[in-house]
Amino acid sequence: MFESITDKISNIFRNLRGLGKLSEENIGEALREIRLALLSADVNFSIVNNFIQRVKEQCLGQTVLQNITPEQQFVKIIFDEMCVLLGNDKITELSSKKPLKILMVGLHGSGKTTSTVKLAHFLKNKNQYAKPLAVACDVHRPAAINQLEILCQQTNIDCYAERDSKNVTAIALAGLSHGEKNNHDLILFDTAGRLQIDEYLIDEIKDIALKVHPDEVFLVADGALGQEAANVAKDFHRAVPLTGIILTKLDGDSRAGAALSMKEVTGVPIRYMGTGERMEAFEIFHPSRIAQRILGMGDVLSLVEKAQEQVNEKEAKEFEKKLKKGKFDFNDFLQQLQSIQKMGSMESLIKHLPGTHHLNIGPEANDKLKQSEAIIHSMTAKERAKPEIIDGSRRLRIAKGCGLPIQSVNELLKNFKQMQTMMKKMKNPQSNLKSLLGM
Ligand code: GDP
Ligand code: MG
Repeated sequence: MFESITDKISNIFRNLRGLGKLSEENIGEALREIRLALLSADVNFSIVNNFIQRVKEQCLGQTVLQNITPEQQFVKIIFDEMCVLLGNDKITELSSKKPLKILMVGLHGSGKTTSTVKLAHFLKNKNQYAKPLAVACDVHRPAAINQLEILCQQTNIDCYAERDSKNVTAIALAGLSHGEKNNHDLILFDTAGRLQIDEYLIDEIKDIALKVHPDEVFLVADGALGQEAANVAKDFHRAVPLTGIILTKLDGDSRAGAALSMKEVTGVPIRYMGTGERMEAFEIFHPSRIAQRILGMGDVLSLVEKAQEQVNEKEAKEFEKKLKKGKFDFNDFLQQLQSIQKMGSMESLIKHLPGTHHLNIGPEANDKLKQSEAIIHSMTAKERAKPEIIDGSRRLRIAKGCGLPIQSVNELLKNFKQMQTMMKKMKNPQSNLKSLLGM
């Protein structure tokens, strides 16, 4: 999602290696580069300037720490400041009122209707709410009601719509009392959008807000909006005080500018993010995770570099061939496990893989590697080459052979299968990063 800015920033960090001590001179170039990277990611100009200023002050004011290189220190400062920019990790909980009323607002095509249903689905799956209701308040396009109804049907969410009325506020109120009468504990109002903010739209939303008294007002914004995002957020916030932002389409080639500007400009936290068209592609927005992604701490390239030092060329070539063909068996897996162990601890290695920062890998990961190796060693050559033949009785035999519980064998087989699927996807470089990110 943040590929372009991530690439740039990880290059900057690479150039910083071997720095003596942080000083005005040696960080100057890196700061200039970071400034450019942020600007080209469409982050608002004044936000970038403040950001750079803060980083600079932090760098020069730092006492030199033991056991940490100046380069690491620099990265940490950038990371911390980026977390601040994104809103820190204080997750804002939904108000505990029942029924909870959420008003969804935003420009046309930003993903309001989709996000309304995604959010209902998400909160229901999390068991936070048992009986959500979506109210169709976009009456300007007849297709809008159908769209909401279809998405609701797909996810088993109740929907309230009136096809003959154009009185949006009356519909919202009727939806509200329908929801209260039928014991809905969560009521979401999907409203209409415009291409641009106009008075008519603002009046409509203001009127709904005045009558239904929403507990939360979420601005749904397209993550690809760039600098424009900050203005849109400001205008909506002025009309109806927002309580949260939902950033959508972060699966696309968005340049992250929106994510970095909106919180700073409005002070309103980014609460959720949409990462795909599927109804499940919806997550809580975690600033530190996003900052890690933006900073390229999940740096596939340096992992590859490191791997190249260890695995000899020939092995690497053969492995690459297999990857390209989507053929990957337990022999390859074993080889990879052994190279990983040659390369150093799992902990340091895993840091290079994107999307794994939340995994919290400790020393037990190395034990896991050893276990996996033992399990593979107790497979026959045929089983290693054709994992699909490993049935129940073979699993039992393998478990006995390596002295591990059958659950461990099952787990390894399951992980292996997932890995195979992932490897197949890697044939397509475009989906490579995304699949690694679990998107
Ligand atoms: P609305 O006009 O604000 O109600 O926007 P819609 O909910 O109709 O969404 C507009 C388009 O964006 C639809 O085609 C959605 O499928 C798509 N969309 C919404 N959210 C996401 C997302 O997170 N990722 C992707 N790829 N597409 C999305
Ligand atoms: Mg809509």
